[in-house]
Amino acid sequence: MEKFKELGLTGEILKGIADLGFEQPTPIQEKVIPVVLEGENDLVALAQTGTGKTAAFGLPLLQKLDTSCRDVQVLILSPTRELCMQIGKDLQNYSKYCPDIKVICVYGGTDIRRQMKDIAKGCHVLVATPGRLCDLIKREAVSIGNVWAVVLDEADEMLNMGFKEDLNFILDETPEARKTYLFSATMPREVERIAKTYLRHPQEISTGKKNQGADTVTHEYYQVRAKDCYETLRRVIDCAPDMYAIIFTRTKVDARDIARKLHKDGIDCDALHGDLSQAQRDDVMERFRSKRLKVLVATDVAARGLDVDNLTHVINYNLPEDIESYTHRSGRTGRAGREGISVAIINSREKGKLRRIEKTIKKEFQYREVPGGEEVCRAQLLWYADKVLAAEPKETLVKYQNELYEKFEHLTKEELLQKILSYEFGKLLKKYADVEDLNLPENERGDKKRDIKAKKESKAEEISAQFTTFTVNVGREDGFTPRDLLTIINENVPRKGLEIGSIRVFETNTKFEIDLGGLQRFASFFRNVSFNGLPFIPAEVKDRYGRGKDRERESFGRRRDSEPRWRSDKKRADKGKRGRFSEKKKGMGKTPRARKKR
Ligand code: AMP
Repeated sequence: MEKFKELGLTGEILKGIADLGFEQPTPIQEKVIPVVLEGENDLVALAQTGTGKTAAFGLPLLQKLDTSCRDVQVLILSPTRELCMQIGKDLQNYSKYCPDIKVICVYGGTDIRRQMKDIAKGCHVLVATPGRLCDLIKREAVSIGNVWAVVLDEADEMLNMGFKEDLNFILDETPEARKTYLFSATMPREVERIAKTYLRHPQEISTGKKNQGADTVTHEYYQVRAKDCYETLRRVIDCAPDMYAIIFTRTKVDARDIARKLHKDGIDCDALHGDLSQAQRDDVMERFRSKRLKVLVATDVAARGLDVDNLTHVINYNLPEDIESYTHRSGRTGRAGREGISVAIINSREKGKLRRIEKTIKKEFQYREVPGGEEVCRAQLLWYADKVLAAEPKETLVKYQNELYEKFEHLTKEELLQKILSYEFGKLLKKYADVEDLNLPENERGDKKRDIKAKKESKAEEISAQFTTFTVNVGREDGFTPRDLLTIINENVPRKGLEIGSIRVFETNTKFEIDLGGLQRFASFFRNVSFNGLPFIPAEVKDRYGRGKDRERESFGRRRDSEPRWRSDKKRADKGKRGRFSEKKKGMGKTPRARKKR
């Protein structure tokens, strides 16, 4: 408490925060409280939610109120109804021992006439969403002509939500001499512009760097195939039995679908999105706040201003469109100095975006392996064991004790434990008995460029895997050419249209790839074949790529992926007999796919 006193707070306000258990001011409070108490300067404060910023502006403003006057003296603008209500509640708690202070919250989605009546009874601090306040001003239900302090809370969010015009209108209605305190988690250009227009020589205060996340948040990512994102999410949730989280999706359809699937999978969850009525939204929020829901699936828009403490995780089921939104999302965990985890589930193409986020938040994402079945089951069982150990024995159970002893009498301790755990976890153990490993191989986890390269390589590998490589004992020295090879194959192998890959003619031998398409004993078709008096003896090369030590001596047809493969059909071989090889090559210089298209 001493520290708060040193900052200039006194009497009843100190008593109020002592009741809340505040002992030390947070860094933003240390910086902001004296400035607001002095009342000399405007202020731009870069502060995340969860840093204690409500008390930072709220405590000194409450202390400075003149309760003998009934006018609105302090105006606090915030982007959403939830945030308004939260600020209102906080201010009422801080001013618990100042019964004369009147704090009123006004926001859209509720009866405006009741709000008008409340204001008419007298109001010192008005906490409002910009839209509803404009409405009230236009109806002349409120006057803000005597306001001496305006707080713009979550200014970036207010602009994101399209309140720019409303803000201009409201600020123009307040006296020029007012002091303006702007709080924002990020500082995009629009916010800077508002600050330049409406603030006079503001003092700048920051407890973090621009657009940078809280220090207590760890950023982790799972990289999986797009089709495995949901299964990964489920395992991540199942592996953290104490999780209390918001899952962010880009669209409301996703939010609804994922909530439905999770619910079906036995996880207590619901969705928050723009299609809900205010009553449905309140119901979902009430269940989430009271922790009857373990996870809430929400879109960015629906979650704006949503103020929930103690979140253990924020999960990005899709990375947000813009990087700033990531800061907002992850800022919902790791609040008030507590640890939090921000998880991103990304597919193989999103690594580049992840790197860009890292640059903005100046923090590295840690790669995490998707938990396997064993890990999930272990986490659940150990969590259960801890819960059992922590349970207080209930007196009332004593009267059933004898009967229960009798029932379990024939079981050893191990058998009893087995039975209880099987009963409790039977479903889970079955579900995770033999689950697939969802982790991508390392070469598929690279950045975008590397991803494309890996894709190409795996495609090339796939293609070469279909080919068998042979070496044959005739080469350039013997006047052997690729054309001769095609002719010999076509004349001696009964199956026509076999696809031939690369042909590499060396001094004394030749290597070629051929897709046998299940054809057995290929070499046996050449038993009595000779070339220029030499027996023609092909032999299979065991190396997958057919790249032996002769490679450096190759003289022709080293095929890169873009180079042609040839088809050994009879017609083409016949044509080869008639003309020069170069002519034949011209006609066949297409990839198999291009030829198929024709
Ligand atoms: P805010 O950033 O205003 O949303 O505050 C986040 C949370 O921190 C709220 O639950 C506050 O009650 C709590 N809080 C604010 N200031 C302090 C403090 N000095 N000591 C402990 N908790 C605080």
